[in-house]
Amino acid sequence: MTIGIIGGGASGMAAALAASENKEAQIVLMERQARVGRKLQATGNGRCNLTNLHAVQGGYHGEDASFTNYAISRFDPEKTLVWFRSLGLFTVAEESGRVYPYSDQANSVVDVLRFALEKPNISVKLGFEVEKVKKTASGFRVESKEEALDFDKLIIACGGLAGTKLGGTMSGYKLLRSLGHKCTKLRPTLVQLKSGWNGVAALKGVRANCHAAIYHNGVLFSQSTGELQFTEYGLSGPVIFEVSRDACQGGGVWLCRLDFLPEIPEEDVLRELLRRRETQLPASELLTGILHNRLGRVLTQAAGISGNRMIAELSDYELTQLAKLTKAFEVSLTEPLGMDSAQVTAGGIVTADFDETTMQSRIVPGLYACGEVLDIDGDCGGYNLQWAWSSGYLAGAHAGGLT
Ligand SMILES: Cc1cc2nc3c(=O)[nH]c(=O)nc-3n(C[C@H](O)[C@H](O)[C@H](O)COP(=O)(O)OP(=O)(O)OC[C@H]3O[C@@H](n4cnc5c(N)ncnc54)[C@H](O)[C@@H]3O)c2cc1C
Repeated sequence: MTIGIIGGGASGMAAALAASENKEAQIVLMERQARVGRKLQATGNGRCNLTNLHAVQGGYHGEDASFTNYAISRFDPEKTLVWFRSLGLFTVAEESGRVYPYSDQANSVVDVLRFALEKPNISVKLGFEVEKVKKTASGFRVESKEEALDFDKLIIACGGLAGTKLGGTMSGYKLLRSLGHKCTKLRPTLVQLKSGWNGVAALKGVRANCHAAIYHNGVLFSQSTGELQFTEYGLSGPVIFEVSRDACQGGGVWLCRLDFLPEIPEEDVLRELLRRRETQLPASELLTGILHNRLGRVLTQAAGISGNRMIAELSDYELTQLAKLTKAFEVSLTEPLGMDSAQVTAGGIVTADFDETTMQSRIVPGLYACGEVLDIDGDCGGYNLQWAWSSGYLAGAHAGGLT
């Protein structure tokens, strides 16, 4: 039996390794880039957050997020880690459930997969961009510019459009559409949100632990707590990725309310500011020792307090306004940054046309899809790679006749 796998990313490599357990199966893994796992290498800021121990409890989105249940419970985070250990990877879990390689290097994950692919029944074709796929009487014909290959079974693991510079492409959607599958609207997710507030650039590079709540036309849309990072364009960092799904889509007024001191009540902040009236310090130092200096000065200015005034001369009202701002600072939002900056694609190939227990197409028998190309996206924190491993492993095992 011959199995073609298009895409040498996370899900494609998992599929190849699972299928290769059948020694009779001949597997060809086709990757258009010069090496496998290009995007994987950039994940988790170069650390690769390869799974999340809580992924079995949900954290997935799409027209039918329950499509993930079977694959994720069959090849759950625990089994995934046992599998990676068998490939030679040591891992460490953080309290949040996020798991990283012990080396703290995404390279380690790519390397153990790359070495594992060196098997007699797996052939890896690099720089092989599949342009067309056709259904034939006995299986599938796959064509690149230079070569045509025939397979009994075909797995499409081309990933999504997000992270264009790292290999994100429309290719998988186009190939699956050419075989009769439908695609939902694609949107960037786990992405920075742009702001129209002109103070944002002055805070570029500032990080803060905060509670972020997104409001659409005054109604709470999404919220989370974690690290925020100001960028040249707006807001970024894990807490923003977590609230970014579908934010700023579809018009209306969008804003982000930031609580920079989520664990400290407003009264405590105000008490400290009032105490500072006993000092001989200028107002520019009002939030020194409480928040990042630059952030403190921006908030003080936003409260209408000039940094040159002395704290001793500020009124109760002025200090109350500043205390309020540390707990509820509103930043206007305009739009998400584009697909090239997004970590993940929301939307994709309609999952109703696939069997969730095998990842096989209901339209074209012998055809499989896995990973981000499908209409599934996960929360920030290892959920997307877990989906890639689980769905890839399931597709490979079934195509290889092992389930
Ligand atoms: C910057 C960044 C950081 C991220 N960090 C994390 C993280 O820490 N944790 C997490 O869970 N998720 C993270 N993600 C998301 C995660 O990387 C993806 O969801 C995951 O890689 C999807 O796996 P996949 O196999 O579906 O696609 P990919 O890993 O993207 O692999 C698809 C492969 O197919 C190849 N390909 C496409 N079309 C063709 C074709 N026609 N012919 C041949 N080859 C083709 C591509 O070159 C690519 O190598 C991150 C994403 C980005 C962009």
